[in-house]
Amino acid sequence: MAWKTLDEMDLAGKVVLVRVDINVPVENGVVTDATRIEKIVPTISDILAKGGKPVLLAHFGRPKGKVVPEMSLKPLVPALEKALGVKVAFAPDCIGAPAKKAVAALAEGEVLLLENTRFHEGEEKNDAELAAAMAALGEVYVNDAFSAAHRAHSSTAAIAQILPSAAGRLMEAELKALEAALGNPARPVTAVVGGAKVSTKLDLLGNLVSKVDHLVIGGGMANTFLVAQGIDVGKSLAEHDMADTAREILAKAKAAGCAIHLPVDVVVAREFKAGAENEVVPADACPADAMILDAGPEAVAQIAKVFEASKTLIWNGPLGAFEIAPFDAATNAAAAKAAELTRAGALISVAGGGDTVAALNKAGAAADFSYISTAGGAFLEWMEGKELPGVAALMH
Ligand code: ADP
Ligand code: MG
Repeated sequence: MAWKTLDEMDLAGKVVLVRVDINVPVENGVVTDATRIEKIVPTISDILAKGGKPVLLAHFGRPKGKVVPEMSLKPLVPALEKALGVKVAFAPDCIGAPAKKAVAALAEGEVLLLENTRFHEGEEKNDAELAAAMAALGEVYVNDAFSAAHRAHSSTAAIAQILPSAAGRLMEAELKALEAALGNPARPVTAVVGGAKVSTKLDLLGNLVSKVDHLVIGGGMANTFLVAQGIDVGKSLAEHDMADTAREILAKAKAAGCAIHLPVDVVVAREFKAGAENEVVPADACPADAMILDAGPEAVAQIAKVFEASKTLIWNGPLGAFEIAPFDAATNAAAAKAAELTRAGALISVAGGGDTVAALNKAGAAADFSYISTAGGAFLEWMEGKELPGVAALMH
């Protein structure tokens, strides 16, 4: 890996510009979920311990290049002070005289938060002039915002070309976990891809079939693959116009030696609601008036066997309509199996995606996974095999 970590940087007495993702939910000026703030603590603490002066660059909301007072980062100062345990100063702009003055006044052991980078039009255009104005404030650049790394912005990409740069601890952990899962994984590698639709995950499926040994397809998207094989799925969620695409993915998998696992049995119901009357049928026997809402017990047993034969697992997308019981059963059982194998040291397990993280939390399995990515879009783009500008910019 060609990016540097904090360990390789001399930070003593230096002003360190740190790009963080603290785009937290705020209600009436109060932070309601500080998870993202807590995640940057190791990076800031390490910079302080090395004698550096952390100056935080961050975005908040979508002000679209204009100053929108409701999207000021200032209300986050108390939550930052609480999480970091040090004084946090604030500058009303991320460049220019106000920022320079605040940096000059910053004492050792303190942190400075600069105003929303997206108040400047250049930010989302990866403008070099804006990047230079930000870079002029410090001596070193650290990017700890993996979740913003899929965007080429001045504070995530251009600035890294100007200053000596490194990955923060959160970025480092994320990149190492992803590298272990797809970059240079222990084989066999299994990917689970579920969720609602094939159409939102085409690039992801296309990339995975050439990289993994087993691909388990679940959720609504499995229905589309069943349709592609000429199977009638009744009233199930399925993208009938994607059947050709699904067949292409199956052919690509075959050519690459990737084994595809579709559910052999399914749970069907007539209503999409919690506790709806349901039955287990073979995957090719969905009644015309019913819909498939989960994978069946035989499918779950097969998935468990695939997991047992794997050394690495990467998971995006639930296996069924996990929000409504009992259609969370297959997702819960597969998650429990992955958790058990990971605990036993037999499996490296990495998962990401908004609903996936929610489903694994609901299953009580998230804590046992090797790594859970909360990076959302950046995680998915990485699974699609795309280069992330914020990561590429750190390569030296
Ligand atoms: P992620 O956010 O982790 O990338 P997705 O958004 O792709 O995941 O998919 C999650 C959604 O897929 C959930 O809302 C879930 O209810 C839905 N889903 C899964 N299986 C089915 C199914 N058989 N029928 C209808 N919806 C399903
Ligand atoms: Mg989703």
